[in-house]
Amino acid sequence: MVQRVDPLASAPPAFGDEEAGKILAASFGVTGALTALAGERDQNFRVDAGDGRRFLFKISNPADSPPILGMQAAALRHIEQVDPGLPVMRTLPGAAGEPWVAVPGPDGRAYPARLFTFLPGRTVASTALTTGAIRSFGQTTARLGRALRGFFHPAADYEILWDISRFAALRPLLAHVADGARRARAERALDRFDARVAPVLPGLRAQVIHADMSLENALLGDDLSVSGIVDFGDMTHAALVCDLAVAVADVLHGRDDAIGAAEAMIGGYVAVTPLDEEEAGLLGDLVAARLATEILVTAWRRDLYPDHTDRGGISESAAHAFLALIEAAGPDTVTGRFREAAGGLPYRRSATGPLLARRRRALPRSPLFYEHPVHLVRGEGAWLFDAAGRRYLDCYNNVPVVGHGHPRVVRAVAEQQRLLATHSRYLHEAIVELAERLTATLPPALDAVVIVNSGSEANDLAWRVARAATGRAGAVVTSYAYHGLTEATAALSPEEWAAGERPGHVATVPAPDGYRGAHRREADGWPERYAAHVDDAVRALGSHGVAAMFADPAFTADGILAPAPGYLRAAARRVHEHGGLLVADEVQAGHGRSGRHLWSCHGSGAEPDMVVLGKPMGNGFPVAALVASSAVLGAVPAETELFSTFGGNPVACAAALAVLAVIEDEGLVANAAETGGYLRDGLLALAGRHALIGDVRGEGLLLGVELVADRAARAPAGARAGAVAEAMRDRGVLIGTTGPDGNVLKIRPPLVFTREQADLVLRVLDEVLASG
Ligand code: PMP
Repeated sequence: MVQRVDPLASAPPAFGDEEAGKILAASFGVTGALTALAGERDQNFRVDAGDGRRFLFKISNPADSPPILGMQAAALRHIEQVDPGLPVMRTLPGAAGEPWVAVPGPDGRAYPARLFTFLPGRTVASTALTTGAIRSFGQTTARLGRALRGFFHPAADYEILWDISRFAALRPLLAHVADGARRARAERALDRFDARVAPVLPGLRAQVIHADMSLENALLGDDLSVSGIVDFGDMTHAALVCDLAVAVADVLHGRDDAIGAAEAMIGGYVAVTPLDEEEAGLLGDLVAARLATEILVTAWRRDLYPDHTDRGGISESAAHAFLALIEAAGPDTVTGRFREAAGGLPYRRSATGPLLARRRRALPRSPLFYEHPVHLVRGEGAWLFDAAGRRYLDCYNNVPVVGHGHPRVVRAVAEQQRLLATHSRYLHEAIVELAERLTATLPPALDAVVIVNSGSEANDLAWRVARAATGRAGAVVTSYAYHGLTEATAALSPEEWAAGERPGHVATVPAPDGYRGAHRREADGWPERYAAHVDDAVRALGSHGVAAMFADPAFTADGILAPAPGYLRAAARRVHEHGGLLVADEVQAGHGRSGRHLWSCHGSGAEPDMVVLGKPMGNGFPVAALVASSAVLGAVPAETELFSTFGGNPVACAAALAVLAVIEDEGLVANAAETGGYLRDGLLALAGRHALIGDVRGEGLLLGVELVADRAARAPAGARAGAVAEAMRDRGVLIGTTGPDGNVLKIRPPLVFTREQADLVLRVLDEVLASG
């Protein structure tokens, strides 16, 4: 600890202009006209030298010890070196080359005197700042923090009342605030700090920060951008986010729109230095802490130095007003708004009810899950968080295959978006690397890739390619399959057909349901018996002939019917015999979910002619792919360009490559097998206790729990399954339902799922089944 005396507790210097001029000449060899400038605990003079040069002459408080002054000089040098464009003063040496000169004062104390280059600009009232200027102020504050990132000085362990990370220590000063309402407001800020900030603050990134980015310390140019940052007298080692909190509090107080303006300031800051979630979450309370510090320290100083007029008068009442604004808006609301501003999102968080009404009006045909839809704002790993901060365990989403917000994918996307985001008609590394990595994981015959944007688009393209390659026009699909949204793929999706409707060129086969279908698991070779239906389907296609059979190897929409060992191989053989192609739709089951391999058709013995990848491929960034043999793709006429503007753009490819890397590096295929197996065993154990569970199926982390009203009759309990999913949602676990009767619970979490999370699903499902 360098110093225990707070400079504020020490009377400020009070040299006369003439005396100061003499000191300047003696110590720095500079003469000129001195004009006194504002200073809280130092004396500052503008010096207009005879030769037209301008300087800032500063006589500091004796409480600023040599190590502190040394730190300030070193910091200014460091900033100059790291970010020369930042407008900070340069220190000019004394006659003997020293960074400051100790001047004896009338009270016998030594007052450090320093000379600096003079920065242009003027101080501006808060109310004169435009939104653009506020944003720019935020950017400059962040730049200053970045410039100081690598700075170290032993004197930085320095206690000062203004350091908001030490705000809790100011509680005794409450007694100096005469006005009861104001005192109570400051006290509430202290209480929130103790409860919410103090426990988290020690875990935040910390460094040497300026700690006083206020309007008094910023000179602004005619365009209102910062042309000078002055006064490094509060510089200390503290949480980086405190710098921003001070800027918000001190730059914006006095404005009626302070909270809205803060969003611009925060937006500017995060454009340079993104904030961590924890930092963003504390910002509102830290701003309140700074405002309350202003109030407490000013009240205390007024009692201490009744004769000394300082900046307290104006800023104190402005601080009260800003703190009152925060309380009127609700500290949690303000925290939420600041957090969103830090997220850099182009929308503002709305209340759930009105948002739902707006959504239903504006997007009447876009479905929502649950009777009480979940209003999500954030995800992390296998967890999702709603607008009220409630946490849900995500056991439904396969899109975030490596976990919500995986930092490697996020970084890859952000960095690629910053570097280059264009279409794929230029030579770029990422699309080539992605295509090569995909083909390396598939059988050698599948050597050609087209990258598109969605599973539907990839299946649509597969359909076009199949027709071109075979010259036929018919398709075979399983009886409740889903393959996409486009006209061509909706025709291949019986799940989506209106009742009684079937496109003439599509024939269905029963999906291999070994539990309740025509051929049961007890029967020898039951999957092959299902495959025999392919012959019937092809016959039904008549003159269309079969161009392709599309199959999701996990039969997800059909009720999660995996595994059906031998089915795909036998079906493929029959399709091939009829001259058609097999398209393995890995949109659901791929990317490691089966726990066996990246692709669920691997090891099936079937040799798909085309493989379609989608959903999880970019962990939420839209990207999908068709992989085929170059011979099959070659059937598409050369004049037909297989190109889509966004397909294979560098950002999508960066996302897809990051996903593949994470799956490999984190061993997620093995985790799907292990955690999936553990969860499956747990579900089977539940089946032993709950008669409602008729069957437990699936592989890896794609599991289906079929609910039946009557085990003997295997009568589907669709309504019950829906109610179970709703009840689980109410208890914080998100699952879905699937199958033609909607009676199969669909459990399909991100592959980073853990045993503890599996235990939680099992416990909640057990409770829900017991209570129903
Ligand atoms: N195929 C399968 C098996 C799917 O599950 C889906 C989406 N649920 C699609 C294709 C369509 O993919 P997308 O929604 O990305 O168009």
